[in-house]
Amino acid sequence: MMVTIMRLFFALPVDIENKLAIEHWRNRVFPPDIRPVPIDNFHITLNFLGEVKASSLDRLCEGATELLARLSLKRFRIEIDQCAYWSGSGILWIGPEQWPDELDQLQRKLASLAHTLGVAQSKRPYQPHITLFRSKAALPKPLLEPSFTLEADEVVLFESIQKKQGVQYECIEHWTLSGQTDIDKRFGAQSLKRRRRPSV
Ligand code: ATP
Ligand code: MG
Repeated sequence: MMVTIMRLFFALPVDIENKLAIEHWRNRVFPPDIRPVPIDNFHITLNFLGEVKASSLDRLCEGATELLARLSLKRFRIEIDQCAYWSGSGILWIGPEQWPDELDQLQRKLASLAHTLGVAQSKRPYQPHITLFRSKAALPKPLLEPSFTLEADEVVLFESIQKKQGVQYECIEHWTLSGQTDIDKRFGAQSLKRRRRPSV
């Protein structure tokens, strides 16, 4: 029997305005002779699942739907204000120096969902980031620090597909974070609690 395998990860997408603004900044502060990551690929990974059987996809999506409903997070902001180079992976990235608790909650819950489904998890501490370049040689720190504000209002499950022209990400499923007030959230949480099955 043929088993279809998908390479999957959860991420926060980057809106087109920010993609263009980041590209503009990148063109100003880095030399033109290093190969940049295409702006279509900009994202902040929340959880890397890696190779997953297509037959597990429904369970994964149902799990994500359930946990996001239970978390009932409001949309939140991420201030991108640092740029660094990881020599191990050869990645130059931008990201927040500090970030809201909502982002940690999302990351932790998705990691435990992945763990429940038997997906091995990275032990490294989480640093949210957008990869801008892959380069074996260290890149200099930019003279102008990045300054971008992302509005996290959607979680996306992406499939990573290797194409001739490079890797491409396709949206498999997405979940919108609410713009609810705290009061709405409380009522939402109560109705969720009522519906939860008793634990055994
Ligand atoms: P490529 O590997 O083709 O150069 P890529 O790294 O963008 O491109 P993937 O390897 O499919 O594509 O990774 C998708 C996303 O998951 C990227 O944000 C990547 O940094 C992240 N990722 C990949 N492997 C891991 C891992 N082992 N642990 C944590 N995150 C990972
Ligand atoms: Mg990779």
